[in-house]
This record gives sequence, structure tokens and C-alpha cells, in this order.
Amino acid sequence: MISSMSETVILNNGVEMPWLGFGVFQMEEGAETEQSVLKALEVGYRSIDTAAAYGNERSVGQAIKASGLPREELFITTKVWNSDQRQGATLDAFEASRNRLGLDYIDLYLIHWPVAGHYQETWQALEELYNEGLIRAIGVSNFHIHHLEDIFASSDVRPTVNQVEFHPYLLHQELRQFCAEHQVQFEAWSPLAQGKIFDNPTIVEMSRKYGKSPAQLLIRWDLQHQVVTIPKSSTPHRIVENAEVFDFEISVDDMARLDSLNRNERTGPDPDNFSF
Ligand code: NDP
Repeated sequence: MISSMSETVILNNGVEMPWLGFGVFQMEEGAETEQSVLKALEVGYRSIDTAAAYGNERSVGQAIKASGLPREELFITTKVWNSDQRQGATLDAFEASRNRLGLDYIDLYLIHWPVAGHYQETWQALEELYNEGLIRAIGVSNFHIHHLEDIFASSDVRPTVNQVEFHPYLLHQELRQFCAEHQVQFEAWSPLAQGKIFDNPTIVEMSRKYGKSPAQLLIRWDLQHQVVTIPKSSTPHRIVENAEVFDFEISVDDMARLDSLNRNERTGPDPDNFSF
């Protein structure tokens, strides 16, 4: 049982990653991101998930600096955007992210989406940066099994992480099993389904039973599935609330009931069919 905020999973290259992190998608560059990330760091989150595409890396960097926390206590993820998925462009994009964040190294660098015809080449660029010691772990996001198989076929370096949309309406049984079998850590994006499933009657009933909010229930459900999770909030009391998930345990039966809500329903695009 994952029982504290400081608990980590050991990735396939030996690097430790916190199970619970903090997402910053759709946060404005400037005060919103700076204050939210600073609050998260004060509350005890040590893992922050940003991306070049979010346009707020500079503010994440400012908050890190303002926190005064030692660099080695933090786990910072960012991602290479789709238009930068070419060998040279990826190296430049990485350098730009690193500068905006104001960091010497990045803990986890992800391919944001599998751009057809380009993600293998992008992976080679990530390997290069990893071998130079500028990134502690490299991984992917929004990869289906066939995308992962392509990487396995063309490289000896396995992705440490696959970050994909995951919540009770989108269970990804097959992909999660595949990732587990190949030591690719599964990580949930939109773990709260962006707030869209809080009124599901089973979730409402169960959150009453455990005396926890729907958001806390969903975060706990991720952790009990051994899924790394990164809920986002710009609301100070919710940033605190989302970290209070270590004082209860969902029973095996209730985990199965939550699993049974699966509809294979996405809030975001399908990685086999996106146009950006
Ligand atoms: P989440 O599923 O984390 O939901 C965020 C929404 O839920 C916000 O509207 C937030 O509101 C609300 N919320 C948060 N906590 C609570 C609470 N306790 N009670 C009620 N409402 C709450 O959505 P995201 O899409 O942001 O996903 C999380 C992270 O995953 C992102 O921030 C990003 O880092 C990553 N991500 C990665 C993607 C990828 O392609 N790799 C794609 C999408 C996300 P408020 O902020 O107003 O409090």
C-alpha cells in the first residue's frame, strides 16, 4: 500500500519517481502557474508535470526557484511537442525547455504524442540527451501498444514511462498489462477526467462511504492500481485535498466496482487519430 506523499516507484533504469505528482496543463503562464506550483511544493508534492506545449515552463521554473527546495528533491517532467519531432529540432526544443525551466537537467522527458513517421527519430534524440546526462529518464506519452512495439524494435533503450489518459471510464486493461510486462511504468493523465465524472452515482456513493471527495477517491484508485498520477488544480484547498489520499484504502470489491464503470471513453483524442 502506498502510504505517503514521499513514496516513489523505481523506474526501469533505477530512477525513483514519486507516485503522486502535480499537473499544470491549462494553467496560465505567470501568477496562476507560479502560485499553484509553489503551493503544491509547500504541501509536499515533489513531482511536477509540465510540457513545452503548456506555455508555462518559465513559471514552473520560477516557482521551483522560489521554493528554495534542493534540486535533487524534485522530479520535473516536461515533453517535446509534436512540431519539434525531428532529430535536430528535438535537441533544440529540449534546450529551450531546459532554459525556460532554469534547470541543469530534466528528470523525465517525454515524447508528447506519437507523431506518425517521426517518433522513432525523436526517440533517438531523447536517447542522445539521456546518454549525455541531461535527462535522468526518458519516456513516452499517448503511446498505444503498437507505438511501443515500434520503439522496442528500433532501440535498446526502453521508455521508462507511458503517460496516457486514465480514469474509471477509460481503463486501458490491455495497455496497462503490456506496460507492466515490459517494465514501462503506467502514468495517468486527466486522472480526474477533468472533473467530468464526479457526479457518477457509484463514485458519489463510494466517496460518501469512505468519507473522501470524488477527486480523492479517483487519485487513490490510481495509486492502488500502481499507476503514477498527476492531478491538476489551481485551487489552493484542492491542491491540499488531492494530497490527502494516504489515510484510507479502497477495498478489493470497491476497486472492481470502480473498474466496472469502464466505457473506453476518452475526454481527449485517440493517439491513432489526432490532427495536431
Ligand atoms: P485532471 O483530471 O487532473 O482534472 C483537473 C480539473 O479538475 C480542473 O478543472 C480542476 O479544477 C479540477 N479539480 C482538481 N482537483 C479537484 C478537486 N479536489 N475537486 C474538484 N475539482 C477538482 O485534468 P488534467 O487534464 O489537467 O490532467 C492532469 C495532468 O495530466 C495535466 O495537468 C498535465 O500535467 C497532464 N496531462 C497530460 C496530457 C498528455 O497528453 N500527456 C494531456 C492532458 C493532461 P481547478 O484547477 O479549478 O481546481
